[in-house]
Amino acid sequence: GSTINKIAAGEVIERPASIVKELIENSIDAGSSRIFIEIRNGGKDLIKVTDDGIGMSSIDAELAFERHATSKIKGAEDLFFVKTLGFRGEALPSIAAVSEVEMITKRREDLLGTRIKLLNGIVTTKEETGSPDGTTIIVTKLFHNVPARKKFLKKETLESGYISDVINRLALANPSIHFKFINNDKIVLNSPGNNDLIHTIANIYGKDTAKNLVKVYISEGEYCLSGYISNPQLTRSNRNYQTYSINRRIIKDNIISKAVEDGYKTLLPVNRYPVVILNLDLPPNQVDVNVHPSKTEIRFNDEKQIYGFISEGISRILKEVTY
Ligand code: ADP
Ligand code: MG
Repeated sequence: GSTINKIAAGEVIERPASIVKELIENSIDAGSSRIFIEIRNGGKDLIKVTDDGIGMSSIDAELAFERHATSKIKGAEDLFFVKTLGFRGEALPSIAAVSEVEMITKRREDLLGTRIKLLNGIVTTKEETGSPDGTTIIVTKLFHNVPARKKFLKKETLESGYISDVINRLALANPSIHFKFINNDKIVLNSPGNNDLIHTIANIYGKDTAKNLVKVYISEGEYCLSGYISNPQLTRSNRNYQTYSINRRIIKDNIISKAVEDGYKTLLPVNRYPVVILNLDLPPNQVDVNVHPSKTEIRFNDEKQIYGFISEGISRILKEVTY
């Protein structure tokens, strides 16, 4: 029980930003159209995520905190066709094992919602409550029972920087969702959620960056690559301004970033990197997302074909634009 969850927490929950990521992914999987995130002291004192998704029944609200009680995978075959961001059923039990968690949730079809509170993974309160449709999760006392991990956390600005980065990337990968991020009572992100990616990019990176981007839309067989890349006039000294997603899952993958940058060929000055916001859609069974608990590492069935599709496509698009 709780020891396993505490150990698992070490893998899934490295820092406040990992909690924010897992909670937002759950909200996305729940079909939310708006997701509000609030933090205090870099997430160390408070992480609160509110969504307008499908919510949970009273029974499921408690089950959600049991290990591997995911509602998203029914059998082993489903693992080869993962369509949701979550599928391991580890996040909520892991978070609850190292903090105090309060959850208020209501399904549209229920008259009342449920309020459940856990400390160190154990339910301390469960009651009916009035609530809007959707789910709110509040995480406090983070790592209070794992002093070594608490000590290892960085100072507030760094932790809130990591959180901001996670939220920005998720907003960029999900332009149809309205994200609001409040850090110590200050609104730092208020994305439009109008499904027009360039508006989300302008919101996060500014109008000047948005004006120097080239639209990408390449569709070939089962692959579809879409988003924006910067024209060769706009480059950065690192890859921090690159967001890649596969089927809207944020990923880190050297093959894809290399394919994109190779597509620029000689247009890219040495040690300079383009701004990239790209999503690759492909059948879920052609990519393995179950490589690591963080689910950002992936493996392709046919990486050569993916590489060629992307680098040739980007090269073609850059040839067509004039600067
Ligand atoms: P996973 O996402 O891998 O299934 P989690 O531990 O993240 O596992 O969540 C456990 C379960 O709780 C989910 O499968 C889902 O059924 C439910 N759940 C979690 N967050 C939400 C939410 N925001 N809205 C609706 N259901 C949720
Ligand atoms: Mg999850």
